[in-house]
Amino acid sequence: MAESGSTRPTRTVAGPSSTADPTPRAERPPAAPPPFLLDFYPLEDAKFTRLSPFFDALKEGRFTTTRCERDGLHWPPRAVCPTCHTEELVWVDLPTRGTIYAFSAVLAGAPIGMESDVPFAVGLVDLEGTSLRIFSRIVGRAWTELRVGQPVTVETYRIPDGRAFFRVRADAS
Ligand SMILES: [Zn+2]
Repeated sequence: MAESGSTRPTRTVAGPSSTADPTPRAERPPAAPPPFLLDFYPLEDAKFTRLSPFFDALKEGRFTTTRCERDGLHWPPRAVCPTCHTEELVWVDLPTRGTIYAFSAVLAGAPIGMESDVPFAVGLVDLEGTSLRIFSRIVGRAWTELRVGQPVTVETYRIPDGRAFFRVRADAS
């Protein structure tokens, strides 16, 4: 049974200045992880996913995917070929050069953990020499300077909790 009486809860409305944390961001303890469905950097360990080789490669600076000998490259990487259903797939390195097919800017309403990154760009990138079109964060230039057809390079990076992910960087013009 809930307590009552003297422990009546009070509601505090914090003003803008009272919520500012003066501690530099890099020195603060990590925030609680977001809910699973909002975690853009999924569980990477072999204990949780058969796609762990993808994340292992990212930690080594390699951008990879799976390939079915019969049906070709997949994106995103797969545990099973969606066409012929074989599980006999091989891991291959992907090209890291590409061009912007389409892009958009996030100006408000960013996902949890990305609020301070606004504004930022996301987009679809055609990977050179493949039929793959990947969705990614686009960094390196302000979104107002991005153009369809602009060359980009896929890069890997570590997120603060030690996991790895990929993004594309717009070439300097
Ligand atoms: Zn197949």
